Order: sequence, then C-alpha cells, then structure tokens
Amino acid sequence: MKDKFAVQRERMVQEQLIRRGIKDRRVIEAFLKVPRHLFVDRAYLDEAYNDYPLPIGYGQTISQPYMVAIMLERAELEPHHRVLEIGTGSGYQTALLAEIVKEVYSVERIPQLAERAREVLESLGDENVKIKTGDGTLGWEEFAPYDRIIVTAGAPKIPEPLKEQLSPEGGKLLIPVGPRYSQVLYIVTRRGDEYEIEKDSPCVFVPLIGEEGWEE
Ligand code: SAM
Repeated sequence: MKDKFAVQRERMVQEQLIRRGIKDRRVIEAFLKVPRHLFVDRAYLDEAYNDYPLPIGYGQTISQPYMVAIMLERAELEPHHRVLEIGTGSGYQTALLAEIVKEVYSVERIPQLAERAREVLESLGDENVKIKTGDGTLGWEEFAPYDRIIVTAGAPKIPEPLKEQLSPEGGKLLIPVGPRYSQVLYIVTRRGDEYEIEKDSPCVFVPLIGEEGWEE
C-alpha cells in the first residue's frame, strides 16, 4: 500500500535525481521505496523530501537526497555485494543499501543515533543490516573484506584500515576527503595490493571523527 508521502517521494526522485542525471535503476527503485520521512525528526516531517540536508540531532545531518544518490550510483552496487557503511546517521542510506545489496554493515560513533536507526530499520523489516556503535575510521574487521565501503562523513585522509578491509578483487571505497568544511568524493578501487584513486564531485559533509579521522 502506498503511504501518504508517496507522491512527494516520486517528485523527489523525478526532480532531484533523474533530472540531474541519476540513471542506475536499482538506486532509483530504492529511493522510490524507502520512506525518507521515517528517518527525519518529527519537527521536519514536512521537509523530509526537500532538496537539502536536515538536522538529526547531536550536531549531525541526514544528507541531501541527491548526494546520497551520487554516492550509491558511483558505488556501482550489485545485489550480491557486502557493504560497509561508516556513519549510519539517521539510517536512511543504510535502508537504501539494504534494498539494493545482500548484506549491510554500518558503524556510527554516536550511540543514540545508532539506536534510533536500528529501531527504524527493524520497523521496516530490514533483516540484512547490522549496526554497531564505534569508531568507523577503524572499519569493522570482523566481517571484512567488503565489496564496497561508503563513508558518509568528511575525512582529512583515507584511513588505512578501510583500505585494508576492501576486497582485493575490485573492492571500492567511496569517501569524502579534504579540509574540514569542504571535500572531494574520492573513489578508491583495490586490485590486489594496488589502489587506484579517482577524484569525483566536490561535496560538504560533517567531519569524520576518530583515530584515523579528525580530532573531536
Ligand atoms: N548517511 C546518513 C543518513 O542517511 O542519515 C548521514 C550520515 S551523517 C552526514 C554522518 C554521520 O557520520 C554522523 O551520524 C556522524 O556521527 C557519523 N560519524 C562521524 N565520525 C564517525 C566515525 N569515526 N565512525 C562512525 N560514524 C561517524
């Protein structure tokens, strides 16, 4: 059954994603399906499908839909993939990933956000997701290697543990890298012990705070 936000969701997909060049069918289907309004604070319910990031508490944000779509499209996701996400935040991108790939592992440093995201994802019946609280700059060694690692916060440099936890058979790491208030999306592809770095779009993310990231 369609929820009352379905029309807003379709408009978001058409005007903010497809019109700007997003083409990946799996990404588009996931955006049409996942109820973004469940991941925003009640105070912002009317703005849930708007073209900008929104506050989610604790100084953090749910990213602009288009930025999330760019990252997911650039990740070239396949249904059999195992994906590590760093920065669960609201859990919205986690839910999109859960629609597209087989297994999603997500690390969030703020316990209250991790807990809230876990509750919403459980209410949606997403069973292929594991969330933990911790420092994602160290990755999540237990379930490595990953086909894709997607970092949703801005890093001063590429954390070594994330490179090491990438699959050596074409694993890709997507991470915003640069100064604290403006970054460039880096796409790092691993083949054996070789890492190829491609610099993609400019972007602005909250800082990645941790041992291999920024100081608090
Ligand atoms: N993709 C998220 C969404 O859809 O809501 C938005 C994520 S928000 C832009 C970035 C998140 O990264 C914040 O929740 C922040 O607490 C988290 N974060 C920052 N440093 C982190 C770290 N070292 N490990 C895990 N999470 C971190």
